[in-house]
Amino acid sequence: MLNFISRNLAWLGHDCFRISGEKTIYFDPFQLGKTATADLIFITHEHFDHCSPEDVKKIQGENTILVGTEDVLARLAGKKQAVKVGDRLTMDGIQVEVLPAYNIGKKFHPKASGWVGYIVTVEGKRIYHAGDTDRIPEMKGLKADIALLPVSGTYVMTPQEAAQAALDIKPQVAIPMHFGSIVGQTSDAEKFRDSLAGKIKVVVLKRGGN
Ligand SMILES: [Zn+2]
Repeated sequence: MLNFISRNLAWLGHDCFRISGEKTIYFDPFQLGKTATADLIFITHEHFDHCSPEDVKKIQGENTILVGTEDVLARLAGKKQAVKVGDRLTMDGIQVEVLPAYNIGKKFHPKASGWVGYIVTVEGKRIYHAGDTDRIPEMKGLKADIALLPVSGTYVMTPQEAAQAALDIKPQVAIPMHFGSIVGQTSDAEKFRDSLAGKIKVVVLKRGGN
């Protein structure tokens, strides 16, 4: 799993990851430099730091498929695949599951908006990108080998809440995100890692791969 992470998974800052394999997959492209063209771009919700038309353009080729909810896709041009919570589908040979992402007791990401997280299966590994979310009941028992979880607090989970969420999910490896750009510091990622010491392997990725 750690080999897969160092070889195939790049954190490009905030909630943006690139998975390279048979396909090149991005989540929530934001503040990108020059980087590889995408086969699939997954967007979790319409906030500017997740749905950035200018960053989508930087990695979009003729055949790139943009994946998101209807409200997100309305802001973007290109080949599109609309999804909603609960969907399971295969796109460009990649298995995709669409999970809910929402706040509990905060106003930023209402459940009613229908915004999402994703599980994609790459090289047999189930990778969960949680989107902007709190610790929600749907996380319990969700099957993921790698879980990408927001840890900054404010709009999403605090490091402690994210650690509880990781214990609900029990991935082989958890990777913190949503820090170092808009809100949250590396220290939040380290708090997340330290609260899971001896329980779940946490990898704090260095921003790179642009
Ligand atoms: Zn948001």
